[in-house]
Amino acid sequence: MKPVWDDGVWAGLPALEGHVDADLCVVGLGGSGLSAVAEGIRLGASVAGVDAGAVAAGAAGRNGGFLLAGPADAYHRAVARLGRERAAAVYRLTLDELDLMARQDPDLVRRGGSLRIAASSAEEADCERHLAALRDDDFNAERYDGPEGTGLLFPDDGATNPLARARRLADAVRRDGARLFERSPVTTLTGTSVTTAAGRVQCDHVVVAVDGGLEVVLPELAGRVRTARLQMLATAPTDEVTLPRPVYARWGYDYWQQLPDGRIALGGCRDRFVDDEWTLDAAPTEPVQAALERILREQLHVTAPITHRWAASAGFAPDLEPVLEEVRPGVFACGGYSGTGNVLGAVYGREAARLALGLS
Ligand SMILES: Cc1cc2nc3c(=O)[nH]c(=O)nc-3n(C[C@H](O)[C@H](O)[C@H](O)COP(=O)(O)OP(=O)(O)OC[C@H]3O[C@@H](n4cnc5c(N)ncnc54)[C@H](O)[C@@H]3O)c2cc1C
Repeated sequence: MKPVWDDGVWAGLPALEGHVDADLCVVGLGGSGLSAVAEGIRLGASVAGVDAGAVAAGAAGRNGGFLLAGPADAYHRAVARLGRERAAAVYRLTLDELDLMARQDPDLVRRGGSLRIAASSAEEADCERHLAALRDDDFNAERYDGPEGTGLLFPDDGATNPLARARRLADAVRRDGARLFERSPVTTLTGTSVTTAAGRVQCDHVVVAVDGGLEVVLPELAGRVRTARLQMLATAPTDEVTLPRPVYARWGYDYWQQLPDGRIALGGCRDRFVDDEWTLDAAPTEPVQAALERILREQLHVTAPITHRWAASAGFAPDLEPVLEEVRPGVFACGGYSGTGNVLGAVYGREAARLALGLS
């Protein structure tokens, strides 16, 4: 059940016990929450962060490791949904975030681009529209035809070990003075008080940075965010294939990348079991795992043994618009990245901290 990213060396952090004061309390210590913590510290606030489990033990440390520019939908659809100016602004913000990630963690971020591979002639036509819209706004993309199939190459994208990045960021913000607590599920929260199983943070502002399960922490957001389970598997190192960059296939429903040591990490198939996968349960299931295994064996022709199978929860927004708002007085929420929160979540987490501290 452990993700392939887990090297097992995280020592863990204490649970919150008793009473702590802070200017800002961040709930959720995935990539988005840690970005909020880092921004709060950068702005001079005293920051406490709490997580029900461990740092990046949710989707942030159990995902596919793709670092993608842009919002969840393909750029031409984002333009239709948001308007050209806003879609371009979001795209630029995520490109800036990718640059920052590559500067901060050059050993953990591989910036070799990503592929969108079409599964049908209709999807190939969609790739053409996708390409035209990106080029109209001077973003980098090119047609691709290679061993993985036909589609588009986005040269600015990248891949990472998301759990290692998050843990490193947690270490960095702690060195800068943030107080982070694991195994501290929040039971009640207002804009000035966050109560956990065994403690309380008294604060001036709160950011809730939870993607999957956001509507449980803040029931007001039911309908705005819906939680789905996403599943993955990974193999032993193999040289049966060489995949220099992560691949998004079949309208993005299936995805895989080859890690630097040769392992294949592969996820997807949610759409094939969609009724079962709208769930808060984050345990892998046999039918989805069998479908993933078929892609591995029959599409990628990889026979290497499967060493890891795992799942996690992610928040999906029906309109693909992530949440970023004050939900209760003094309580700002971000989440609902619809399956693409590694880069977008860092942008939204930072912005949520700025909003909470009255700076945006
Ligand atoms: C299998 C899978 C593959 C994915 N692949 C990719 C990918 O390749 N690229 C990409 O960009 N995105 C991908 N995503 C989506 C991405 O992982 C998420 O959008 C992103 O990690 C969300 O980060 P986060 O910090 O907002 O939320 P999370 O990582 O979900 O962190 C939220 C934290 O809040 C904590 N929490 C929840 N409730 C409480 C509570 N009551 N009290 C205290 N703490 C609480 C949780 O324990 C958790 O640690 C994938 C998701 C999954 C599940």
